[in-house]
Amino acid sequence: MGEIKAVVMEKTDGQIGLALKTFPEPELEPGGVLLRTLYSEVCGTDVHLLKGQLAGVPYPIIPGHVNVGIIEKMNGIVKDINCIPFQIGDEVVFLDVHETCHACWYCLVAKASTRCPSRKVYGITYSAGEGLLGGWSQKIYLKPGVKIVKLPDGLTPKDFIAGGCGAPTGLHAVERATIKLNDTVVVQGSGPVGVFAAVFSMLSGAGKVIVADPAKKRLQTAKTFDVDHTVDAASSEDRIAEVLKHTQQRGADVTIEASGNPKAVPEGLQMTRDNGTYVIVGQYTDAGDVPINPHWQINKKHIDIRGTWGTDFSHFYKTVQLMAKHNKRFNWQRLISNVYGLEDVAAAVDDVENFNVFKAVIAPGEDR
Ligand SMILES: [Zn+2]
Ligand SMILES: [Zn+2]
Repeated sequence: MGEIKAVVMEKTDGQIGLALKTFPEPELEPGGVLLRTLYSEVCGTDVHLLKGQLAGVPYPIIPGHVNVGIIEKMNGIVKDINCIPFQIGDEVVFLDVHETCHACWYCLVAKASTRCPSRKVYGITYSAGEGLLGGWSQKIYLKPGVKIVKLPDGLTPKDFIAGGCGAPTGLHAVERATIKLNDTVVVQGSGPVGVFAAVFSMLSGAGKVIVADPAKKRLQTAKTFDVDHTVDAASSEDRIAEVLKHTQQRGADVTIEASGNPKAVPEGLQMTRDNGTYVIVGQYTDAGDVPINPHWQINKKHIDIRGTWGTDFSHFYKTVQLMAKHNKRFNWQRLISNVYGLEDVAAAVDDVENFNVFKAVIAPGEDR
C-alpha cells in the first residue's frame, strides 16, 4: 500500500499554516468507500479557515469540502438514493455534510437539519487525525453513510468542480427566496455563490436578474451568464439608485446577498421593494456589525428577511442534476480560472484571497 499525499492546515504556536504530509492508506469500515481525488477546490471558506475566522475547527484539518473523485475501493455493497449499487471506477461526488442525526429537536421538530448540532463537514469540522476527510488529498475516505451521487451523463468531473460549493449554496439561497414567475431579483456579489444564485433565479422563472458588485473584474463573469443588468457603481448610493432605476423606483421583489460584506445588508434592504424578500447567504463568517434602521428598513418596509445556513442533500442533489441539464447552455467549465497541484495550494489560497481568480481548482493527481 502506497502513501497518500495530503495538504494539512495546522496550528503551530498559534499560527495557522499549510504543510504537505503523507498518510497511510486507510482501512475501510463496512460501507466505507475510498475515492481517488480528481478535483477539489479553494473556496472563500478555506481563506477564512487559514485565518482562523471560523469557530469550532479542529486543526489540523485536511481542507477541501467539495470534491469529485473515482471510486477505487469499497467495503461491501454501497448504494445510491435510488438503491443502485456503485461500481469501482464510478465518477462520483458526495455531500460534504455528514452525521446529521435526524433524531434531534432541530432535525425532527424544527425540520432545520442544517442547524443540527451533530453535523460534521468534510474539510472543515473533521480533523486530519480522524482520517482522509478532506479533498486536498490524493485520496478521500467516505465514511459509511456519506451521501454519494454518481455524476450524471453530460457533467464531467471538471464541469462539476467548476460549480464547487458556490453552486448548492446559491441553490439553497434561491429556495429560501421563493422566487415567483417574472419576479425581479437582485443579487449582491458576483463570486461563485452570486453567479449561481443569479443562474438558479433565472431557472426559477425570474423575469429580470440584476447583479450588483463594485468589483468590475468579477462582474465580468456574471455578465456572460445571461443576466439582464449588471451594476458596478463604486458607491452604495449609486448602486441603490441604479437598481431603483431598473425597477420603476420600487426596488426588487427579491434581493439575495452573496457578497460577504456586512455593509451589503443595509444596502440590499434599500434595493428591495416594500413587502419584498431579502435573503442573506454571504455572511458565513463574522465580518462585523452594521447599523440598520429598524423602522425604515424593516418594519415600515414590511419586508421578509431570511438567513441561509449550509446545505442539505436535497440542495446538493438538485444542483448536480441541474448542472448536468444546463451544461450546454452555460458551459460551467469556463468558471475555472486555474488548476493547481497539491504543492501549489498556498498560491491557490492566495489567489482566491486576492480575487486574482474566480475559481481555483486543486488537482491532487496528474489530471491537470
Ligand atoms: Zn440532528
Ligand atoms: Zn465552500
